Amino acid sequence: MTSLDTLAVHAGRADLSGLGVHALPLDLSTTNPLPTIDVGGASYESMATGGHPTEGGLVYQRLWNPTVARFEEAMATLEHTAAAVAFSTGMAAVTAAVLAATAEGGGRHVVAVRPLYGGTDHLLASGMLGVETTYCSPAEVADAVRADTCLVVLETPANPTLELVDIAAVAAAAGDVPVLVDNTFATPVLQNPADHGAALVLHSATKYLGGHGDAMGGVVACSEQWAEALRRVRAVTGALLHPMGAYLLHRGLATLPLRVRHAQDGAGKVAAWLASQPGVRDVRYPGLPECDPLGLVGRQLRGPGAMVAFSVEGGYAAAARATESVRVFTHAVSLGGVDSLIQHPAGLTHRPVAEDAKPDVDVLRLSIGLEDPEDLCDDLARALAAAP
Ligand SMILES: *Cc1c(COP(=O)(O)O)cnc(C)c1O
Repeated sequence: MTSLDTLAVHAGRADLSGLGVHALPLDLSTTNPLPTIDVGGASYESMATGGHPTEGGLVYQRLWNPTVARFEEAMATLEHTAAAVAFSTGMAAVTAAVLAATAEGGGRHVVAVRPLYGGTDHLLASGMLGVETTYCSPAEVADAVRADTCLVVLETPANPTLELVDIAAVAAAAGDVPVLVDNTFATPVLQNPADHGAALVLHSATKYLGGHGDAMGGVVACSEQWAEALRRVRAVTGALLHPMGAYLLHRGLATLPLRVRHAQDGAGKVAAWLASQPGVRDVRYPGLPECDPLGLVGRQLRGPGAMVAFSVEGGYAAAARATESVRVFTHAVSLGGVDSLIQHPAGLTHRPVAEDAKPDVDVLRLSIGLEDPEDLCDDLARALAAAP
């Protein structure tokens, strides 16, 4: 059983038939009955130090939950890693990864390859986590790494410009420093960063993994050693994934390959159509040859995905008018759901990013869903024609 399509349906469900159930069980218990103090105490000790529960001692939901653990096992399988640790949101996952890296490596310096999701960029710049951050391009990573660097952070395809980063090249430049790759845009359907040297593979599960816009979550796929460090952080900072979220996200994985490939087909058509429009410039889509100068599609990325960005003639006013005129697209942040979304990165998702690294004000970002691409192009045609 090695095909991604098969694993997406079956991963993390090995114990179900033994339990006599077919659908994923949803265990909402916040606390668990303990046979003896010693059994509970030993298990508590194991979990608080990053390990698994011992027999008969689940103890407390913040330390361990079976519904969450099944989702984690499924994500580790899909990302080709030994383990995965889930969090309440993608940002909680980023936070835990940075805290775990400072605890593991000792250093308090992070190298961040721009562009990054606005929230990640802002968190690292804020100093809130007690780290100093150097922002750079992929080619500058080797020079940016210092003796106290504990983590290199990158995103590919990057949000919102869809720039592609060569993960193996950055991992080589980082040397012994662990590399975290935000794989939210690609999903494990299109890219497995761990196969290219990433130590930590992060997802905002809120996006494609859930896929229906109704569950928030984050997950980091990694080695068992990193998982222990992440669970130690999670046990005390408390940003665990709610079991209801884990249930919905795990259920979403079964259709992930179908959804991603179908949305990708639509995105290819929308991107090609946009590139032929007179009022549109600089269509950014990894499937367009000029957007993949390193030839990473086919080598690192199995397909160009379903996110598209472009610039509109007429600047901010035209972009604003387009977002207000769509009927099939929804003007909303977030991405990766069954329905198509349009948003203005400079004004919304990347609002907190430093001025010199902010996306241009004429850029719009599309998350293509499962609608008929002709309806999506018609909708965009009408919205762009409404521009002043
Ligand atoms: C949304 C997003 C995040 C943050 O995830 P949340 O679940 O919103 O906390 C991180 N990285 C990328 C690429 C995202 O799109």
